[in-house]
Amino acid sequence: MIYSHSHFDHIAGGQPFKNLGAIFVAHKNAKARIEALKRPDVVVPDEVVDSERTMTLGDTTLELIYVGKNHSDSTLVMRLPKEKIIFTVDWIPLETVPFRAMADTYLPDIEDGLQKVIAMDWERLIPGHPGPDSRQIGTKADARAALAYLQDLSAAVGKAADEHKCLADAMRDIKLPKYEKWANYDAYLPMNIERYCDFYSLGI
Ligand SMILES: [Zn+2]
Repeated sequence: MIYSHSHFDHIAGGQPFKNLGAIFVAHKNAKARIEALKRPDVVVPDEVVDSERTMTLGDTTLELIYVGKNHSDSTLVMRLPKEKIIFTVDWIPLETVPFRAMADTYLPDIEDGLQKVIAMDWERLIPGHPGPDSRQIGTKADARAALAYLQDLSAAVGKAADEHKCLADAMRDIKLPKYEKWANYDAYLPMNIERYCDFYSLGI
């Protein structure tokens, strides 16, 4: 059992697998977080990954790669080198604006992580949440678009911060029409702006 990252909506409920003898693996920061929060329905990992680990089951090879802080400080990129598939959760959404105010997201580290993932050898992405029209599988074009969205958002909010428009004016006035067809654009863009205003105005 491999945890994608420490957030409970992706890791709660593992006890039946533990009872059957599964070994739980996660990034070392996920284990530290899970141990600190002591949630009763989250199994504490047995083994941890630091920067990289390769596992083999039968003739399937799976790489667990840590590319730094992004949507959490414990996100793993799981790569199947033969199949050219990656599974990495929550931070490379398919034509979807990031969730609410991007809680636990590290700026600007997430952009560096996206560059690293785009440079890897893969063809299909399993993102953990479907995109518009229930699309389940992404491509490198989706990863490049996710990075471009953050870069465009960052540039727009940075300019607004320089002009002392953070927070209320920026949340109201900044629009990114290139992405207006993306899921959750109207609902989450102002909250994403708030996240970047905190980054530019407060350095957090
Ligand atoms: Zn998450």
